[in-house]
Amino acid sequence: MNQIYNFSAGPAMLPRAVLEKMHSELLEYSNARASVMEISHRGVDFMALAQKCERDLRELMKIPDNYKVLFLQGGASAQFSMVPINLLRGKTKANYVHTGHWSKKAITEGRRYCEVNICTNSTDNKYTDIEDFSNWKIDSDGAYLHYTPNETIAGLEFDYIPEVEMPLVADMSSNILSREIEVAKFGVIYAGAQKNIGISGLTVVIVRQDLIGAPLAQQPILFDYATQANNDSMYNTPATYPWYVASRMFEWLKAKGGIGAMEKINQIKAQKLYKMIDESDFYSNPVTKKYRSRMNVPFLLADEKLNNLFLEKAAAQNLITLKGHRSVGGMRASIYNAMPEAGVDSLVNFMQAFEKENA
Ligand SMILES: *Cc1c(COP(=O)(O)O)cnc(C)c1O
Repeated sequence: MNQIYNFSAGPAMLPRAVLEKMHSELLEYSNARASVMEISHRGVDFMALAQKCERDLRELMKIPDNYKVLFLQGGASAQFSMVPINLLRGKTKANYVHTGHWSKKAITEGRRYCEVNICTNSTDNKYTDIEDFSNWKIDSDGAYLHYTPNETIAGLEFDYIPEVEMPLVADMSSNILSREIEVAKFGVIYAGAQKNIGISGLTVVIVRQDLIGAPLAQQPILFDYATQANNDSMYNTPATYPWYVASRMFEWLKAKGGIGAMEKINQIKAQKLYKMIDESDFYSNPVTKKYRSRMNVPFLLADEKLNNLFLEKAAAQNLITLKGHRSVGGMRASIYNAMPEAGVDSLVNFMQAFEKENA
């Protein structure tokens, strides 16, 4: 099979080694005499897998002992509800940072539960910049501050962690495990798995223990972090196969040298791509340089009429799924952990050749 580089924003590319491992284990998992998809989540084989999976993630992210790690369903979008349900804890207001499409969705859901204070809003700059932190309007009565460290669609990523006097909540769906972070700075970190953790169907939630246990009344029992934490994320049947894939991804990441090693490669990959874009008049990226995403790189062709030809020719070179989100247009290259440096090299070479032929 040819090496294909898939730049999909999510569900996204998996490492070839992980796909091969999944393939080799598909019919019979460990000593279970059945596929991992066919066994009970409460049996010894799956329980061992789940425990090792959590241990590996704790080791990778250096998660302190006073944090619970949950393996849930409902996607990152379910956390847009679970966060206010669990974190309001008697308060009626919360702070939200609006820097893109996903923050906006979190805000829309947050408003169903509380009064939302927008600390800063990047709508006017079309999600290409983040207002200086010193100018944010943070309501000190807010129960928490929610933000999106990496906006997947516009390619806008924080280069710092906001320091606030209340629990900090981060939707890390598209940049978890891509760089080292200090978990202790956060109240809640959550991420849908289909970008940097594995496949869709699983959401990882890392939550500080003292924030668990006082949810809003009359909400679904599954949406209470305590239900999930007290039952090791197995109050009901969990998403066993996505959980298994996450375990194989964490093992792969450890073998690659962990998050620090991955961060270095991610930096190099992003630098190569942005450098090429900046040096050309044919391609452009509108995001303020220090907030450019290392995971999602949107770019425009100077002549939009060439978009379809670009996509066709790229696909013929085994570079697929480069079409940009409809709200931004142009192209988007998502270069999560699974994208090897060689994939970015191949894209850069293709882009240079395409420019020569069509400029
Ligand atoms: C993809 C994405 C989501 C949506 O995740 P679902 O798992 O589909 O709910 C939310 N936030 C961010 C930052 C994303 O990239």
